[in-house]
Amino acid sequence: PETVRLLSSSQVITSVLNVVKELMENSIDAGATSIDIKLENYGLDRIEVRDNGHGIKAADTSVMAVRHFTSKICSHEDLEQLETYGFRGEALGSICAVAEVSVITKTEEDDISTQYMLDLTGNIVSQKPSHLGQGTTVSVLKLFKNLPVRRQYYTSTKKCKEELKKVQDLLIAYAVIKPALRFTLTHNKILLDGFFPKPGADYCSTSSTSHDKTLIFVNDRPVHQKDIIKLLRQHYTAQYPADSTRNRYPNLMLKIIVPPSSVDVNVTPDKTQVLLHDKEAVLTAVEALLVSLYGYRPT
Ligand code: ADP
Ligand code: MG
Repeated sequence: PETVRLLSSSQVITSVLNVVKELMENSIDAGATSIDIKLENYGLDRIEVRDNGHGIKAADTSVMAVRHFTSKICSHEDLEQLETYGFRGEALGSICAVAEVSVITKTEEDDISTQYMLDLTGNIVSQKPSHLGQGTTVSVLKLFKNLPVRRQYYTSTKKCKEELKKVQDLLIAYAVIKPALRFTLTHNKILLDGFFPKPGADYCSTSSTSHDKTLIFVNDRPVHQKDIIKLLRQHYTAQYPADSTRNRYPNLMLKIIVPPSSVDVNVTPDKTQVLLHDKEAVLTAVEALLVSLYGYRPT
């Protein structure tokens, strides 16, 4: 039975993209208005999707990842008026078969959230109280740990980057179809917090040399990061071309939090230049944020 399970699961869950898509759809189905996606090592070490949806009822938690369990349809008629992405009850169970999965959830009725650790068959092996608010957080660790060939596909950085781009494109698609939904994508623990006003706001400055009006902070330190400013401008211009041609740029603000070990602040005496050890990853994360904010990637 284990082999059969693994075989059928590996057909449902084929990639990092696939996992992100299934989890996002579950969050949207749960009525979430906010979804935060975190990836570590392109999702191979960790994929975490946190939502503020209605959560999973205590009565359903024991079967949530059991093959073919779904809370979304009760009768055959329901199938004809399906308003959810999911209805097969296959995703969560299939992900359990190819990774280490835990689920933290809290409904409106629950006093506190509970974390459930699931095994390969989707059964709960242990549970403990947790501290999160209403909604559900699914963590997927060590994806394809038991499918070496599939895991091997991701040994090339090129393939990993392609996959990350596909995840970004997927988010763009959801941003277009669900404009009220807010979501973030974080890769490798870079935390981004930005303030990007709409054009015409009071805090816009009319100046062709207003680069100094864009504030970038790395770990709370104001810094000059030309590439990042350029990226912000590029997206802003694509989004609001009319404003940009009148040289009206808003005062953008972006806070970047990275692990202290991944940044070198002593590059210049005034410490306004910092060396980001993985600048590529930071730029990718900033771009993902802009794309999810504005809904598309400028060409
Ligand atoms: P399906 O989406 O087809 O119902 P899944 O395997 O994706 O099947 O999920 C199984 C069940 O787990 C869902 O029907 C739902 O009850 C619950 N569930 C999964 N993710 C969430 C979530 N983010 N919020 C609320 N309930 C969830
Ligand atoms: Mg689903």
